[in-house]
Amino acid sequence: MLIDYVKCTCCGACVDACPQNCIALTDFHNGFLYPQIDSNRCINCKKCESVCHVSHEIKGSASLLCVAVQSKDDMVLEHATSGGMFLHLVKVLPEGAYVVGAVYDEQMVVKHEVLPKSDVHKFCGSKYNRSETVGIFTEVKKILDNGKKVMFTGVPCQISALKAYLGKNCENLITCELFCHGQPSDLLFRKYVKNLEKKYSSKLVSYCFRSKSKGWDNQRIVYRFANGKEVCIKPEQDANWMAFGFHLSLMDSCFHCRYRILERQADFSIGDFWGIENIKQNFNIKKGVSALLINTDKGQRMFNRIRSEVNYVTCSFEEISLKNTGLYKNFSLTPKRALFWKDYETMPIDRLLTEYSKFDNGIRYKLAVIKKELVRHIKLIKNRAEI
Ligand SMILES: Cc1cc2nc3c(=O)[nH]c(=O)nc-3n(C[C@H](O)[C@H](O)[C@H](O)COP(=O)(O)OP(=O)(O)OC[C@H]3O[C@@H](n4cnc5c(N)ncnc54)[C@H](O)[C@@H]3O)c2cc1C
Ligand code: SF4
Ligand code: SF4
Ligand code: SF4
Repeated sequence: MLIDYVKCTCCGACVDACPQNCIALTDFHNGFLYPQIDSNRCINCKKCESVCHVSHEIKGSASLLCVAVQSKDDMVLEHATSGGMFLHLVKVLPEGAYVVGAVYDEQMVVKHEVLPKSDVHKFCGSKYNRSETVGIFTEVKKILDNGKKVMFTGVPCQISALKAYLGKNCENLITCELFCHGQPSDLLFRKYVKNLEKKYSSKLVSYCFRSKSKGWDNQRIVYRFANGKEVCIKPEQDANWMAFGFHLSLMDSCFHCRYRILERQADFSIGDFWGIENIKQNFNIKKGVSALLINTDKGQRMFNRIRSEVNYVTCSFEEISLKNTGLYKNFSLTPKRALFWKDYETMPIDRLLTEYSKFDNGIRYKLAVIKKELVRHIKLIKNRAEI
């Protein structure tokens, strides 16, 4: 273990930097794989420590401009999670530029990939999973060193990991971070997918977390299977989503995140503008509205080029964060989460998720915890008495 679980974001930049190839993400803890060093091969060069973003000072700045924004293009809005900002930013990149973002592979594992501008539709849509980034930092550095333009997208700690890995400012790099609730465990998600495949007797080929079929403000989750079956459900019927919403499946460091602050490190920060209908009535809510923070001069110049293709109104950071508190403050760690990961080891996934997603953090849950702990202790005492 290189650093504490509460700090490490499992980005794998240390893996990329190690000249001995002796670090791997293999140390399991609370649903995530953390770096482990093979001490027999380590030469103590400390490169892994020097690239780790956790030890770097945050060099961010308060946003220059905050806007509520919606694409004028219905095709863009159809594919986007919120108001389509990601696709508009890509549109104004020069030909030959590369975009880095998250895609599902055939096993439904989310990975960061580099794609030419022409293929970016593969990045569209929020995958509420941890995106694997090992290897991406080396690849991006090579492209930048060749003088090509790159737009790197990801959650704030991934942006920070790239910047720390590069160790210098790159004029041809544009960074776009997502507002971030947190990254949920991909290992848990894989188990959940296997369970769905068993239930519907077919391979899952697509999992859309934020279908707009009933409108942006009325989320639906849609699973599609290889046998053609399509299942559309409300978020509260998806136990995996509920575990994410209740913060059970989030990485340890998401509860101690350094990036939930006003000063942003990326050129742009994009998210959903929840509650916009109570602030400005300029938008068709059903189609999705983005909150966009423009944080640098480079970002400002790019935004100037998309102004005519979007509807937007200026607003404040406070208005944007009113219903998006994760932007500026951490969530509390609850005893429920600790118990959840304890039970992850032994309980079948469907039971685990169903049991934990039906309670809130109120009195009902507290009583359930007490009952559960009592049963555990009685069993322990019984076992000891039998020995
Ligand atoms: C894990 C996660 C947590 C989020 N939490 C919040 C939140 O709390 N509040 C909020 O307002 N918005 C949050 N968002 C952002 C929001 O869901 C939209 O992604 C954002 O508004 C951009 O939407 P869009 O319409 O511009 O484009 P979209 O087409 O939806 O955005 C696509 C972009 O998202 C990137 N992306 C998709 N999945 C991932 C992933 N797993 N990891 C890294 N990058 C990914 C793609 O690479 C691409 O750059 C979160 C997104 C993710 C992935
Ligand atoms: S570089 Fe990333 S994976 Fe490695 S220790 Fe630091 S935060 Fe963890
Ligand atoms: S000290 Fe050097 S060799 Fe050892 S794990 Fe870190 S990067 Fe690799
Ligand atoms: S909450 Fe913070 S640490 Fe967690 S994934 Fe988001 S940016 Fe990274």
